[in-house]
Amino acid sequence: MPSAPFRHRACYVNFGEHLQNHWNVNLLWPGAPNEWSPDDWRRFLTFVKACGYSTFEYWLVPTLYDRPALEGGAIQRAFAATMRQVNRIAHDLGLTVECLAVPNTIGPDWYSACPHLPDDKQLIRGLWRHWVEQLEGTDLFGIFPGDPGGCNRNGCDHETYIDLALELTELTRSIQPTARIDLGTWGTPFTGWGDDARRIPGWDGSWDMLVDPQYARPGDFAHIWNGTPERAKAAMDYLIGRLPDFPNDTLVSINLGFSPDGHATQGGDARGYARAVSEIRTAITWDYSASEGELVCYPHWRLPRLSARRREERTVGYSGGISYTMTPKLNLLTLWCSGQMYLNPDADPDRLSREFCTRVFGAEHAGLGELFEAFEVVAGWGHYPRRQWSKGVLRSVYAEIVERLEAADVSGCDLPLFPEPEEHRQDLLWFARRFLGMAGEAPDRGRIRDDYWRKALAIYDHIPMSADERAEASAERFSAILR
Ligand SMILES: [Zn+2]
Repeated sequence: MPSAPFRHRACYVNFGEHLQNHWNVNLLWPGAPNEWSPDDWRRFLTFVKACGYSTFEYWLVPTLYDRPALEGGAIQRAFAATMRQVNRIAHDLGLTVECLAVPNTIGPDWYSACPHLPDDKQLIRGLWRHWVEQLEGTDLFGIFPGDPGGCNRNGCDHETYIDLALELTELTRSIQPTARIDLGTWGTPFTGWGDDARRIPGWDGSWDMLVDPQYARPGDFAHIWNGTPERAKAAMDYLIGRLPDFPNDTLVSINLGFSPDGHATQGGDARGYARAVSEIRTAITWDYSASEGELVCYPHWRLPRLSARRREERTVGYSGGISYTMTPKLNLLTLWCSGQMYLNPDADPDRLSREFCTRVFGAEHAGLGELFEAFEVVAGWGHYPRRQWSKGVLRSVYAEIVERLEAADVSGCDLPLFPEPEEHRQDLLWFARRFLGMAGEAPDRGRIRDDYWRKALAIYDHIPMSADERAEASAERFSAILR
């Protein structure tokens, strides 16, 4: 018999300004590519449900979390209307919806507002109130510390974050009394608050100044993520002390370990804190990079790692977690397998992969499930491949993937895929052909870069580049695969 399932199984789609691509949803730039219709949302959420998730989760991105929202901005109003509709569709399907927000990251330039400055504090409260009012029917509001976000100006530290979260919890419940709170601890923990962030002399709260290399200290991991195990203990002790003040049904997101990959390498081992929290409130994980990273779009295959995580989470006593994607219309295999592993952590990842391919491409192509592992060769966030490949072997695997995908008939697909199975087959073929090219002799990498830009990132020809200019790096990295 399968073991008891995790109760909170969230499919988290990050459609942030820096993560736009052909397979993500565009909710911020009317008229630009990749907008979804209500029918697209229904099909997507139907697939989410079929994967085994309980919850659809999204980020209220900083472009929305800004003054124009309070002034009746058209994009903000349209977003709110869309998400209210998404709430209704999700509820029809038996899913709940979580809206995640960083309370102090303001606007597309990622300004870090300071809760100790009266005007900033008023803005934070005003924006939080606005969105809780606008997003009627939202089941969970996630309060997230940052990345980007946080503050160490004017004496702000990890305690400031928890105090602010408690205040926003009370505000949320005064507007939507049945909405639950998911208190995030992401980071080392409480990303960006106090000593987790670089100390910048005279910092004005701007993103530009925070990441200015002149303030980097030798040995810094980045502008944030600099918390030590001692700091983690102080932060978590404070959180655990305040937790009884939060509503009984509060969820607390704590990863297995305090690092961007949930390892115990930066802020330390988190399992003891997760166990302590789970005795007071519901503990879940927010293991972001287990399923995919944030830079290059490609068909991921991190299934053994996901499986190992589920089993370890079970031993710690978590009640669930997330499965993240920035490519909800591409990484269907991962979405499905990850959802199934939440339902049954004992499921065999290779068998799940074959089952997915049987159901989509037909029993004669079950082997694609194993062959797709050869796509997982792109160094990046959360990339811990199970095996190493020689280029010669990769060439033959990619050639076999191309051959099988060309031959596959998806008319018998019995999973409610979004996009349509044929479009998905074509997308996978597109990647398989490029990977085959890059595994070959003297690939034309300039042309591959341009192809990838047109296929994946063309939206950036229509919208502003994000504050971190990540799309350019994505195209560069894609064209350098197997270099
Ligand atoms: Zn501050």
